[in-house]
Amino acid sequence: MTESGTMVRGNSAWPGVMEHYRPFLPVEPGEPVVTLREGNTPLLEAPRLGAVLGGIRLYFKLEGCNPTGSFKDRGMTLAMSKAVLRGARAVVCASTGNTSAAAAAYAARAGLPCYVVVPGGQVARGKLAQALMHGALLVQVDGNFDQGLAAVRALAGEHREVELVNSVNPYRLEGQKTAAFEVVDQLGEAPDLLAIPVGNAGNITAYWRGFCEYQRAGLASGRPRLLGVQAAGAAPLVEGRPVARPETVATAIRIGNPASGPLALQAVAESGGMLTAVSDEEILDASRLLAQTEGIFAEPASAASLAGLRRHAGAGLLAEGMTVVCVLTGHGLKDPETALPQGPQPIRAASPDAASLAGALGL
Ligand SMILES: *Cc1c(COP(=O)(O)O)cnc(C)c1O
Repeated sequence: MTESGTMVRGNSAWPGVMEHYRPFLPVEPGEPVVTLREGNTPLLEAPRLGAVLGGIRLYFKLEGCNPTGSFKDRGMTLAMSKAVLRGARAVVCASTGNTSAAAAAYAARAGLPCYVVVPGGQVARGKLAQALMHGALLVQVDGNFDQGLAAVRALAGEHREVELVNSVNPYRLEGQKTAAFEVVDQLGEAPDLLAIPVGNAGNITAYWRGFCEYQRAGLASGRPRLLGVQAAGAAPLVEGRPVARPETVATAIRIGNPASGPLALQAVAESGGMLTAVSDEEILDASRLLAQTEGIFAEPASAASLAGLRRHAGAGLLAEGMTVVCVLTGHGLKDPETALPQGPQPIRAASPDAASLAGALGL
């Protein structure tokens, strides 16, 4: 019996995406696996929102349920394992937040130092707390994400002992494609449409690769159309040119010159899908709707996917009975400061007794 065969049964039997999907990944038996048992995230049906959107069969892929609260863990397990395999002495990334949280956690697990470059003052507090708590060395730079990425790429090129774990690291996308496998495994088929937020454009590229590979392997009969959603203030792929000063409340997709832009455009075209942009107001509306009608707390960038669906619901993209998967890329607790003003504000009771409470609550 293998070591894993002696473990407690139940959910803890899930070994993480590298073990579970090993035949589809560039991993040989016996290679080191750095894992926090990422993946196997819920695919949650949302009948109320599905009805509102014209009677579609709507599902949310809850990537915020990954160990560090975003899909970045799927690629980080592979990137970190390969860094260990080749004897890297440290890892480095530029990050709008979630990559740094994942890199820091997986580096801690691997026993490697982690260096993180973040655009000054633009990272959600929860993500910053994660990176620091896991012991990453954080360098704040005056500049945006795109400039930070260029800097760490050059650094890793000159210092070969340091492994770059941004999504330009090919192992990141290989790991992230497992989310598409899971969607098909959970639905029993490929959905008709997949809505997904787009920042550096790695994830949409990885999903498409996953759907294509599953179809080729005979594990899915079709592939979904892709709806890639950018924030209006950071929509280089929609506008067809880089955005020098990207701005949006959805910090995880505040990227003006996506590294995987060309691949993403190709994926969307092959799928017969489309790219769209949504305003910050639409993003915040969608995140409130998710939280208050379906009980799902997603970070703003994630809610962009639902905002994109809502924008095109009446425009012929959606038809009754269609199966639609909306990828919610990160957990709402990542960005409490953006969330706090969104809901009802606290009320005061004059004193701690039932009568005062009833008065405050209007009962
Ligand atoms: C990284 C990230 C994105 C964007 O993914 P890309 O691969 O950069 O397009 C979207 N949402 C969240 C929560 C993220 O962390």
